[in-house]
Amino acid sequence: MIDQALSPPEMLEISCENCGADLIVEPALKTAECPYCASTSIVERPASGGHTEPVYALGFVIGRDRARELCLAWIKSRGLFTPKSFKTAPPERGRGLYSPAYLFCAVAHSEYTCQIGENYTETYTTTDSKGRVVVRTRTRTEHRSLAGRSASYVRDVLVTASAGISNKLLEQVEPFDLRALLRYTPALLSGWIAEEASVAREECRALARTESLEKIGQRLSRMMPGDSHSDLRYSTRLEDEVTDLLLLPIWVFAVKHETDAEPVQILVNGQTGEVAGFVPRSWTRILGVTLIVLLLALAVFAVVGAALSF
Ligand SMILES: [Zn+2]
Repeated sequence: MIDQALSPPEMLEISCENCGADLIVEPALKTAECPYCASTSIVERPASGGHTEPVYALGFVIGRDRARELCLAWIKSRGLFTPKSFKTAPPERGRGLYSPAYLFCAVAHSEYTCQIGENYTETYTTTDSKGRVVVRTRTRTEHRSLAGRSASYVRDVLVTASAGISNKLLEQVEPFDLRALLRYTPALLSGWIAEEASVAREECRALARTESLEKIGQRLSRMMPGDSHSDLRYSTRLEDEVTDLLLLPIWVFAVKHETDAEPVQILVNGQTGEVAGFVPRSWTRILGVTLIVLLLALAVFAVVGAALSF
């Protein structure tokens, strides 16, 4: 039943043998290249069944032309150490695809201990250099231990379930506006490529828990009273966890800046237009800039040295 809902009979299921992405496309969109890694090792596979059906999806707001513009502007604005061949290479392909991610929510019960510092002003008398008695003030900190419990809701933690997009890269195009979430229906996929969840739910959940605990630590730290605090320790129990599969709108571009190098993958958030990718570095440029800085430093030393010897 699930399989039927996700891929109606007219949909094709294909796999990339290079990056492992399992894709679902309409026959008209059948592609010879993987939209993620641009590999041509695409194989058609029989309807496998047993997929996890998405619960939600976010629609595309940014069209292909706008996504390409944003991608171009982003490439041009990369830093000094980016190879010129990359900055002038055109973003190719540009495929819009629905990429799977897990949305994690939970109730967090934390117990914490902390050292709270409270400042107060103290007045004291002392003698100045001429032996006169003067009254001065200084700030002192009083420390006290604090222990307590806190319950809070962790929501909207997104973790990639895609074989083609790393969680680190996904984080760079976040956030998505989750107020625009739609209930998933297969009709949403019409005209687009969709990837099935390729990372196991348990693995995604473990990652989401780690991210949630970091968030809770930051939240507790902001919550502490007093003027300062140190040694915050906490243990957190997550309850009522919900892990829902959703589809995210992503534009994927490939930039081939060297004939023998793998193309660089660049993502554009299909909802907000945020762009991200791992930019190659030019070692000759880094070396060049380092040399210039060294020469400048030497010149400054020489000038200062000459001035001092007069
Ligand atoms: Zn691939």
